[in-house]
Amino acid sequence: MLEPLKTLRLIFQEAADLHQSAQLLDLIVARVQAALGADVCSVYLLNEETSELVLMATRGLDASSVGKVRLPKGEGLVGQIARHQSLLNIPDAALHPAYRYFPETGEESFHSFLGAPIISFRRLLGVIVVQRAQREFFSDEEEAFLITVAAQLAGPIREILDKSPLITEQVADDDALQSNLKYKGVKGASGMAWGTLYWVSHTHQLSEAKEDYCDEPDAEIERFRDALSRAKQELRAGGERMQSSLPKDVQALFGVYRMIMEDKELAREIENHIQGGWNAETALRKTMESHARIFESMDDAYLRAKAEDIRHIGERVYASLMGNEKRAPLPTKGQVILIGRNISIADIAQFPAQRLAGLICTSGSSLSHLAILANALGIPAVMGIGEVKASLLHGREAVIDGYRAIVIFNPVANLRREYRKLAQQEKKLVSGLNELKDLPAMTPDGFRVKLMANTGLLADITPGLLHGAEGVGLYRSEIPFMVHESFPSEDEQVALYRSVLEAYAPRMVSMRTLDIGGDKPLPYYAITEDNPFLGWRGIRFSLDNTSIFLSQIRAMLKASSGLENLRILLPMVSQIEEVKAFRVLLDEALEQLRSDGEEVRCPEVGAMIEVPSVIHVIDQLSRYVQFVSIGSNDYTQYLMAVDRNNPKVSELYDWLNPAVLRSLHGMIKSARRYQLDVSLCGEMASDPAAVLLLIGMGLDMLSLSAYNLPKTKWVIRTVPKSECDKLLAKALKAENPKETRKMLEATLDRYGLGGLIRAGA
Ligand code: PEP
Ligand code: MG
Repeated sequence: MLEPLKTLRLIFQEAADLHQSAQLLDLIVARVQAALGADVCSVYLLNEETSELVLMATRGLDASSVGKVRLPKGEGLVGQIARHQSLLNIPDAALHPAYRYFPETGEESFHSFLGAPIISFRRLLGVIVVQRAQREFFSDEEEAFLITVAAQLAGPIREILDKSPLITEQVADDDALQSNLKYKGVKGASGMAWGTLYWVSHTHQLSEAKEDYCDEPDAEIERFRDALSRAKQELRAGGERMQSSLPKDVQALFGVYRMIMEDKELAREIENHIQGGWNAETALRKTMESHARIFESMDDAYLRAKAEDIRHIGERVYASLMGNEKRAPLPTKGQVILIGRNISIADIAQFPAQRLAGLICTSGSSLSHLAILANALGIPAVMGIGEVKASLLHGREAVIDGYRAIVIFNPVANLRREYRKLAQQEKKLVSGLNELKDLPAMTPDGFRVKLMANTGLLADITPGLLHGAEGVGLYRSEIPFMVHESFPSEDEQVALYRSVLEAYAPRMVSMRTLDIGGDKPLPYYAITEDNPFLGWRGIRFSLDNTSIFLSQIRAMLKASSGLENLRILLPMVSQIEEVKAFRVLLDEALEQLRSDGEEVRCPEVGAMIEVPSVIHVIDQLSRYVQFVSIGSNDYTQYLMAVDRNNPKVSELYDWLNPAVLRSLHGMIKSARRYQLDVSLCGEMASDPAAVLLLIGMGLDMLSLSAYNLPKTKWVIRTVPKSECDKLLAKALKAENPKETRKMLEATLDRYGLGGLIRAGA
């Protein structure tokens, strides 16, 4: 009996040890061929740009035909399967009218043919085929086997394609680098860049360390301990070197590395391996790999990103075991794009900031520390592009489209010119927009909008001010908590909050109390829940941890003493009782501080509108708060029941959905009715198309990341409110978000703002 699940389990188990996507396809064809006892198993993947199906892996056909056999969708048997998205089972392939013969494959000796489409979430990814020499149909059981395997493998294959959609264009031989080699990764930081690639290599790669034994475990343990302490020292020195160039909270990322290095359990595990006979390098690799894998297999995106920190630390200790590293010299002139498997903050610190145009990381995610840093510094970055050949790339040119998370290596002259132009235009756009810095965000027909900055890292303060922010609409206080090693003390918080409040005074700063839980866990406070987005999040967590909450409120009040520009914003409010409970704590904090002789004033209090339940009790809410701020990111996710971080449903997550627009419109009207100040601080305020509708709704305060601020201001200063009103009326009647986006983008184009559509993507 065929056992598809057993085959799949074997594939998934072995796949965990693979480093490259091509190896996964090889593994699939080998396992499926063996399980079915077929003569041939092949996988063809769809190149979406050319609409061709390309042979990517085979067992049984001539291996040299891989990458060369290409069939347009609809042509040949494989093309037919792709076009009709259905199974094909035929006893003699050559007799089928759609059959196309490729001499290089040597397939003439195989007659029976069974192929199934590989489809993931309605998207055709490719076709899997098995063949035999006999002229006979494959059995029903074999059909069922192939369908099951194709369905189950669609997910991992989709990941391969998403990382590297033009997989077929990858380099075939070691000596040549193909032009326009395009890779898709995940967004690290927005922006366009071009420059010369500098491969950040660590001469010694832990992943390449050969397995070896040691004769004297005690001496080997000593060797490991020495290496560990040298690595710790280097890290400390790196942190000190960067003290002046990076804001304090970004430097705190060093603390996270230090914590891993000082983890006694981890060191003990490595030493146990050495006691068991392995040499220090092997013991280190085994331990770090197994820990990194545990994090990689976690559902939570933030915890998955921790795998990267662990690997990075492993590399550092390994380098220290192996002795000095040699670095390639920096190109003498021009812009540099750093690329590497594991770029650390310390690596970045070695390069002059004015020459650093972009960052490309073969691993990592949008939540990795490198991405946080790139955003803070305003450097375009693409993460997780997958394996690439270092030796071929170093010193070559590349272009980065941080908006779409695309990298093109070795671009041909005209593409390079095109991207260079785009990068310069974008620079000009941003600097041109900066000229708007001191001009008000006012529509041509006189509707004035206040544009505020979203911040969380101290690194965002200067960009916010430089881009003309009129205050801070959202200070995400959980970010400093997240990059810290433990709950920050009250004094540490006071210093941190004071620097933000002082930088913006007398402009208003809305400081949001701790919003952890959901997708924002604290590294030092594990919360395990089946449904974290519906669980212990935001104000719920804070109210249950009174001392942490009280200390944060006290810190905010103390920090604002004498400045009086603080407003306190409460996250994830879902019922009035939560606000009332907060007010009790606020009064308590005020009383405590006043009795200590501190001069503190009661700040304005606001609630985030993120959970749809509160919009139905706005009248009651208005008795306890002075303002509300719409968190459109969470609001959209809770209204539509679509996880904002789940790529499987990401197409359903759209704030232009008529349900979101109608409810926001109604909500804004009722907030006004009850004299509440209302603003919006989600990503929607950075989407130029959505901004048109928000203006139509009469929203006069938006808060967004500093780098997007000028673009939103340009939209406001260009399109009259009267036009926005008409667009809103149409959008409210639309049946789907696509229709609305098309209409809004056409409007932006008409007003000469087409360039922003790309930038807003
Ligand atoms: C939001 O939900 O829109 C918001 C601004 O909060 P955060 O993205 O920090 O959850
Ligand atoms: Mg939120």
